[in-house]
Amino acid sequence: MRIASGGIQHETNTFSRIPTTLADFERDSQCGPEFSAGETLFQLYRGTGTIHGGLIEAAEESEVELLPLLNVRAQPSGAVTREAFETLTNLFLERLQAVLPVDGLALDLHGAMVTEGDPDGEGAFLERVRELVGPDLPIVTTLDLHANITPRMAQLSNVLIGFDTYPHVDMGERGAEALRLLARMIRGDVQPRQAFRQLPLITLPPKQCTLREPMHSLMAEVHLLESRPEILTATVAMGFPFADIPDAGVSVLVTANEDQAIADRAADELAGRLWNLRDELQPELTTIEECIRFTNEEAKGLVLFADGSDNPGGGAPCDGTVALQALLDADFQGGVVGILYDPETVDQAHAAGVGATIEARIGAKTDDAHGTTIVTSARVRNLSDGVFIHRGPMMQGLAGQLGRTATLVIGGVEVVLCSNRRQLLDAEMLRICGITPEDRRLIVVKSAVHFRAHLGPLAAHIFDADTPGIHRPDFSRFDYQRLRRPIYPLDSQVKYP
Ligand SMILES: [Zn+2]
Repeated sequence: MRIASGGIQHETNTFSRIPTTLADFERDSQCGPEFSAGETLFQLYRGTGTIHGGLIEAAEESEVELLPLLNVRAQPSGAVTREAFETLTNLFLERLQAVLPVDGLALDLHGAMVTEGDPDGEGAFLERVRELVGPDLPIVTTLDLHANITPRMAQLSNVLIGFDTYPHVDMGERGAEALRLLARMIRGDVQPRQAFRQLPLITLPPKQCTLREPMHSLMAEVHLLESRPEILTATVAMGFPFADIPDAGVSVLVTANEDQAIADRAADELAGRLWNLRDELQPELTTIEECIRFTNEEAKGLVLFADGSDNPGGGAPCDGTVALQALLDADFQGGVVGILYDPETVDQAHAAGVGATIEARIGAKTDDAHGTTIVTSARVRNLSDGVFIHRGPMMQGLAGQLGRTATLVIGGVEVVLCSNRRQLLDAEMLRICGITPEDRRLIVVKSAVHFRAHLGPLAAHIFDADTPGIHRPDFSRFDYQRLRRPIYPLDSQVKYP
């Protein structure tokens, strides 16, 4: 049995001013300017907690011949340029054509890609794939929990399987699930019937977290549903809200074996359960001033301040300075701000060397929505090449690159700077920069939720930040023009079904 695989992954923040180019995909995919296939992808992903890691593992245990043709991603940012989308899609289609016939196709997509030409990037990609392979080739597609699933995506892929976790710690499992289900389809053991329901609901990252309620209990119900013999798989996609496109927001999918009516009924029930949780999904935010007060007066251990408004994992610049400025103004002792994107200051620190004092201009260089540049003297405490291995439960084993880093000390605060925009989601990212998180009092984390997987267990308290930014979990700050309406909680009197 021969199964081809591939994917282009991007989560597009349409409120970002930074377009996502081919060069961004090249830098972030770690497989060279030629976007290597085959053995390079096996070496990169075998044994890692990623979708392709899971595809490879399940293929090798069942003697399926897996043909990885392309697997590329770029850090979330603004719309993917026409050139990048066309180049990568054509590359995948050429490679697919060269290996046809295959028995099935496993696609590793995100589900929230917006291109310059199409608000439904994955739908456009699937359409091109179907044009080549026809309507009958079995396709199973994995998607992020933040997928903004469109009817077109659900129609063009026989089965869509979304992550069940946020932080996304089940990517390996979902990849393996996709490969196994695809193999059963090819053997004729199952005939998937997929039901898709889109809700008039849009939600924000903090409470989409599956470690917290109400999502924790809801996912337990999803797993119970999946344990029924007639159900092949079920997905709750919470959507990526920082995309002003018609299909942003929440949807559910249930896939039954052979019986569409069973899938439809279960999907309606699951969608109804989720709709009833809509009020509980609204986050509560805390200012940095209140967080500083709490840390000084009440904290029983490490405090994490989740600066999700400036989360590069959702397309924000990652150079916001509001929390850092407040810590400096308060003369806070034992604070860390990480990881802040500022390649210019990193270069300056590397030129000066460890122990030197530099006159730095830190952060707020991308736009004017994330505070103002901080001009200050700073001592260079640590320099690194930014190369690390993910040690936490998310993407475990996968190599990562922060670009060169510099850790600066300003009064009682350490600022960790990087030269690739990366979300702080693994404690190893701080450790290679000379920071032992357990020894600090308060860490401002440029992440909305993913940090909880590895840094969360070290913390006694976690706050969702009330800071400005293009990933701020607060709908009142965004002007939606293209989103379908009415939608909860932007509109009142929204009815479902
Ligand atoms: Zn996600």
